[in-house]
Amino acid sequence: MNLVFLGPPGSGKGTQAARLSAKLGLVHLSTGDVLRDAVKKGTPLGQQAEGYMKRGELVPDALIVSLIESKIAAGELTSGFILDGFPRTIPQAEALDGMFAKNGITLHQVILLSVPDDEIVRRLSGRWHCPTCGQGYNYPAAMPQVAGKCDKDGSLLQRRPDDEESVVRNRLGVYKKQTQPIEDYYRQKSLLREIKADRTPDQVFAALMEATAVKAAR
Ligand code: AMP
Repeated sequence: MNLVFLGPPGSGKGTQAARLSAKLGLVHLSTGDVLRDAVKKGTPLGQQAEGYMKRGELVPDALIVSLIESKIAAGELTSGFILDGFPRTIPQAEALDGMFAKNGITLHQVILLSVPDDEIVRRLSGRWHCPTCGQGYNYPAAMPQVAGKCDKDGSLLQRRPDDEESVVRNRLGVYKKQTQPIEDYYRQKSLLREIKADRTPDQVFAALMEATAVKAAR
């Protein structure tokens, strides 16, 4: 099963993609995670991407397309995967079609996690994580036991720099302008399945399991 996860920032894409890939034994490729790691390590990719990410803008298509090309060339996307955060523009979606055609890969389904704007801003401005173990927290829905500290290892919690409210609003604007058009792109190919994600994580996950099971049974 080869899937693309689409959805605005804060829709729970990353969390749900991680959970579904673990459950179904799929490779989970998050372009945001790959880029954040590259920035942290100061690689050439990270240096090129950092400024765009800080401003909440998309990195140039050519950069991200060649990243995916290198993952396909390395054989990382052969046996079932979830692409999380890619594609994000029409040129990226077209480039992906070309790469898939060239490598005999079939895209089975595109999952769109939809959440109203107000809920997104609320979720992202309350989002914190532990830099040591990666555990996520959300104020006020899922707070740590001791304010500002990780329940598991006591590390001081951090926020993603691009979760600051003005950057969140910019990322939302970018999503609407540059990414939303690919919802129609995939709808026209009868690949899009929309799942309402302003529900509890367990409810969203149950809907995802149902959607992918129905697709796999066809
Ligand atoms: P995410 O973790 O998916 O929200 O991505 C964080 C940031 O990484 C985005 O705001 C962009 O700056 C960059 N990014 C991730 N994926 C892409 C992509 N497919 N195209 C362009 N920029 C991306």
